[in-house]
Amino acid sequence: MAEVLKGKPVADAIKAELTKKVGDLKAKGIAPKLGIIRVGARPDDLFYEGGAKKTCIAVGMDSQVFEYPENIDQAAFEAAVIEVGAKKDVNGILMFSPLPKHLDERKIRTLIPVEKDVDCLTLGGAAKVFTDDATGFPPCTPTACMEMLHHYGITLKGKRCVVVGRSMVVGKPLSMLLLREHGTVTICHSRTQDLPGVCREAEILIAAVGRAKMINADFVKPGQIVIDVGINADPDNPGKYCGDVDFASVEPVVEKITPVPAGVGSVTTSVLCKQTIMACELQNG
Ligand code: NAP
Repeated sequence: MAEVLKGKPVADAIKAELTKKVGDLKAKGIAPKLGIIRVGARPDDLFYEGGAKKTCIAVGMDSQVFEYPENIDQAAFEAAVIEVGAKKDVNGILMFSPLPKHLDERKIRTLIPVEKDVDCLTLGGAAKVFTDDATGFPPCTPTACMEMLHHYGITLKGKRCVVVGRSMVVGKPLSMLLLREHGTVTICHSRTQDLPGVCREAEILIAAVGRAKMINADFVKPGQIVIDVGINADPDNPGKYCGDVDFASVEPVVEKITPVPAGVGSVTTSVLCKQTIMACELQNG
C-alpha cells in the first residue's frame, strides 16, 4: 500500500503561514489583494473563483472579481485589463483562460503588468520562471506540485524526474522548477517513444497529460513517487472526476501517490494567495 499524499495538510500549512504574513503586512498598513478577471461565466471558472475567494478570506486578504460579458469586444476588454492592471490596490491578477475565441488572448495577456502576473500568463513572467528569477511567479499548479513535494519531505537533488506533458500551464514550467532543485528531468509528450518504459525509469513521476487514468500499472514500478496533476471527467463514474493516473492499479505498486480529487488541486488556490502576497511584498519593497 502506498502512502497517499493528500493536498489538504499542505494547503492548511500554507494558509497558516499566509495568515501570519497578512497580519504582519496589515500591521504595516499594507493590505494584499487579488484581482480576478473573468469573461462570461463558465462553471469551471466559477468553481475555481469560489475556491480562490474562500482561500483569500481564510488568510485575511482581499479579493475582487472583475467580471465582463461573454460578448465584450477586443478594444473594450483591452481597456478593462489595462484599468485593472493599473489599480494600486490590486497586487496580483488571475485571468481565466481560454478567453472567448473572438478575443486575441495573446495580445491581452501582454497587458497584465509582469509584477502582478501571479499565474504566469505573460511572456515576461514566463521568462522569469525559465531564467530562475525569483521575482517571477510560475503558474499555480506547478508551484502546488512543488509545495506537495516540499511538505512531504521529498528532495529532488539528483533524482530522476519524469514529467508527462509539455504545456506552458503545467509540464514545461514544472520541469524548470524540478531542474531548479537539481532534479534530472525528462519531459515526455504525445510523440515520446515507449512512454511506459520512460515512466518506469522515474524516481518521481508527474502526470500532466489530460487523459483520464492513462498512467496505469504498466507505467510504474515499486519505490516510485507519483504526482497526479490531472483533472478529468471520470469515464467510470459520471459526475465525478479523476486524475491522469489510474489510482486503483498504480497505488498498490508505488511508494507514494497523490490522489484525485484531494491532491494537487486542493493546493492551487493557497499558492495563488501565496504568490499574490509575495507580489505585494515585492511591490512594497
Ligand atoms: P494540455 O495543454 O492538454 O497538455 C497535455 C500534454 O500531455 C501535452 O504536452 C501532450 O503532448 C501530452 N499528451 C497528451 N496525450 C498524450 C499521450 N497519449 N502520451 C503522452 N503525452 C500526451 O493539458 P494541461 O493544461 O497541461 O493539463 C494537464 C492536466 O492537468 C489536465 O488533466 C488538466 O485538467 C490538469 N490541470 C490540473 C490543474 C490543477 O490545478 N490540478 C491545473 C491545470 C491543469 P503534446 O504536447 O505532444 O500534444
